[in-house]
Amino acid sequence: MLKTDLRNDQLESWDRENFFHPSTHLAQHARGETPKRVIRTASGVFIEDRDGNKLLDAFAGLYCVNVGYGRQEIAEAIADQARELAYYHAYVGHGTEASITLSKMVLDRAPKNMSKVYFGLGGSDANETNVKLIWYYNNILGRPEKKKIISRWRGYHGSGLVTGSLTGLELFHKKFDLPVEQVTHTIAPDYFRREDLSQTEEQFVAHCAAELEALIAREGADTIAAFIGEPVLGTGGIVPPPAGYWAAIQDVLKRHDILLVADEVVTGFGRTGSMFGSDHYGIEPDLITIAKGLTSAYAPLSGSIVGDKMWKVLEQGTDENGPIGHGWTYSAHPIGAAAGVANLELIDKLDLVSNAGAVGGYLNSAMKEALGDHPNVGDIRGEGMLCAVEFVADRNDRQFFDASKKIGAQVSAKLLEQDSIIGRAMPQGDILGFAPPFCLSREEADRIVAGTVRAVKTVLG
Ligand code: PMP
Repeated sequence: MLKTDLRNDQLESWDRENFFHPSTHLAQHARGETPKRVIRTASGVFIEDRDGNKLLDAFAGLYCVNVGYGRQEIAEAIADQARELAYYHAYVGHGTEASITLSKMVLDRAPKNMSKVYFGLGGSDANETNVKLIWYYNNILGRPEKKKIISRWRGYHGSGLVTGSLTGLELFHKKFDLPVEQVTHTIAPDYFRREDLSQTEEQFVAHCAAELEALIAREGADTIAAFIGEPVLGTGGIVPPPAGYWAAIQDVLKRHDILLVADEVVTGFGRTGSMFGSDHYGIEPDLITIAKGLTSAYAPLSGSIVGDKMWKVLEQGTDENGPIGHGWTYSAHPIGAAAGVANLELIDKLDLVSNAGAVGGYLNSAMKEALGDHPNVGDIRGEGMLCAVEFVADRNDRQFFDASKKIGAQVSAKLLEQDSIIGRAMPQGDILGFAPPFCLSREEADRIVAGTVRAVKTVLG
């Protein structure tokens, strides 16, 4: 481990002087107004900071440490790989035992009609790969105009140039000159936040499909290449799709010959209680984005799983144009791949996908039982090991709180302060999100619920 004899104040001042943190209010951080937490160690669902505080991490880092912290099997696999072969590239057909084995394990688990997996480093670069492959595909098919990508408002797909554009959150666009012109957005499938409160769920789904259809008509179907969506809207508020949503969307896409990308960075490898969200909801994607759960974040690794239909065209493209002009130095990095193999083995051995479904289901129903009638709780929703509680000023007419009150952030702060539990105040409204590691026990789920009840009572009465 790194030097543990450093004093906290020393680390804090180095941090302020040198460290440019992602997704952070830079000025507040410089003024020392952000939490000063330096994480030192972790085990199971608990992380521990340098002050000795032990916190129940009910968000698994950034919904990524799916198997839980401190798994020695994965640590050993990483160390063994580093000792044996820390690196070799994957260009011009090279592979390592780890990367080849992992590609087989991923395809064995992937939904049907998937052909190959391209490995990258994180979710953003995997989606960047997807967009390039989509453009390449339509160029090979002689349809150079068919290039635009439709994403959803409140979708999250990364923070690069094109992926930050796909992300449908204003903060990721504002002052960055995004979105780029090839990206356009349609409505989020959030039934709770529907504009027309008189709509049934079925009518709302028809409305989502009609909105998509209208967008395609406005832009011209021959200009739209693909649609990208998370099976369960994640960062945009943990919103499972209303019943029938994916069938209705796929129907529209098929009619207009538009490819479908399932961004499974959060849902891939078990979070919904199924191995893939696509299987869970009957989605038949042409491309699948994977990252977080692929290694449970023990090492950075992502992937783009390419379906049969696109794969044939990519092969044809290289016969016509030479090798695919796309590759990262660290594509299929052996250390990431070794972590991935050990992680997927562990998920099987401990049956963690079933546990995500069972204990996640328990967490969701216990949360509903405890808070479902609270006058300021408008919605409790989830799927597998994903759960969200949305707060409202008045549940009877779904009045939202004034955003400046930051109710969601206040509840999550109380949860941490009173019960040492980390939930996440989601950026799109007063939403407290949970996405614990799959190894969560029922007792730990009870603790999360009890802590949430206490935090809600403290903030809202
Ligand atoms: N897609 C989804 C659905 C995500 O949730 C995220 C990250 N939260 C990404 C893509 C981007 O992944 P990364 O941060 O690893 O680039």
